[in-house]
Amino acid sequence: MQSEQNLQLLLQSQHLSAELKHIAKKVLVGERITFDEGVILFETGELGYLGILANYIREQKHGAKTYFNRNFHIEPTNLCVYDCKFCSYSRLIKERSEGWEYTMDDMLNIVKKYDTESVTEVHIVGGVLPQYDVPFYMELFNRIKAHRPDLHVKALTPVEYHYIFKKAKLDYATGMRMMKEAGLESMPGGGAEIFHPEIRDQIAKDKCTADQWLQIHEEWHKLGMRSNATMLYGHIEAYKHRIDHMERLRQLQDKTGGFQTFIPLKFRNKDNQMSHIAESSVIEDLRNYAISRIYLDNFDHVKAYWAMISRTTAQLSLNFGVDDIDGTLDDTTKIYSMAGAEEQHPGMSTRELVELIKQAGRHPIERDTLYNVVTDYNEYEFPEQAKPQFYKLPVVN
Ligand code: SF4
Repeated sequence: MQSEQNLQLLLQSQHLSAELKHIAKKVLVGERITFDEGVILFETGELGYLGILANYIREQKHGAKTYFNRNFHIEPTNLCVYDCKFCSYSRLIKERSEGWEYTMDDMLNIVKKYDTESVTEVHIVGGVLPQYDVPFYMELFNRIKAHRPDLHVKALTPVEYHYIFKKAKLDYATGMRMMKEAGLESMPGGGAEIFHPEIRDQIAKDKCTADQWLQIHEEWHKLGMRSNATMLYGHIEAYKHRIDHMERLRQLQDKTGGFQTFIPLKFRNKDNQMSHIAESSVIEDLRNYAISRIYLDNFDHVKAYWAMISRTTAQLSLNFGVDDIDGTLDDTTKIYSMAGAEEQHPGMSTRELVELIKQAGRHPIERDTLYNVVTDYNEYEFPEQAKPQFYKLPVVN
């Protein structure tokens, strides 16, 4: 494999520090790197070096396969009882006039819009408000599954679950079991931000703590269910906080094996209380993907949200450890656009996603939420697109 040859060549380099060479050797034999080595990668690993290591791991796990799915989002509200400093999406309750609050019927109508489309997943996440409580969400999940049993319900994060379970006086284990019985099938990775209290207390003080976030995922995994994990990077955290974040995830994954995918989320600085902080560069984004791939050896997948980082960076990321670029979206999410992402109306057809992946020299696979293959697009030929019609124009002398 080319990626292995590249790693072998790198190991022969005279210019690599002893520390970086030692880490590269570990990666070659599949040995886990330590916390301190993770920090060394952030502090001294240049992009080319990190790319070779991460691509080697990516290709060991998946070859050239690159996953996406057909999905749509429902964002029940952009009002929120919390006030995270990085959030461009939420409007505090006092600014209620600028927000939306979907009713149960509004949300079911969104689901019905996709009745004739071959989407496989609905992704539900938004702000936290008192009326969206345990009975509300149980009824919502129940009614979505009754209407369309084949649609996978991926919904809410520990931020919402912690809030609604506390209100209903339910412990996490009971609450998550009730959600599963109501139709919840997996949990997205949001609300993790940065776990370390030195940072979390400054940017997301009031919502669930790191331990609570991890406990809720653990209870969910104990039910035999899967979830994802994110990390919001590129703001006030130091490299050691990013590694601390990944270390906590790696430890829980060793215990439960319930995480599927790690999704680094780039901090965007439009319209929030941290707008004075410059955004990370594309180089830093790619380094972060690569180090995530290297550090989280027990996670199967690393995902880049194309809608958040742009189509071109998503293509580049496929050589830096990423094997999943998320879904078709169909312009159903405002979380990225309100934070200043380039894509203001994110949506791509299956054909566009397949072409984007093929242009990067990768092998496109449409997956369902649990990474079962829906369609392998490597050899797939799309039907000819309708040719443009030309009409003879009158000649004017
Ligand atoms: S990040 Fe989530 S919990 Fe925090 S204010 Fe925004 S919507 Fe609310």
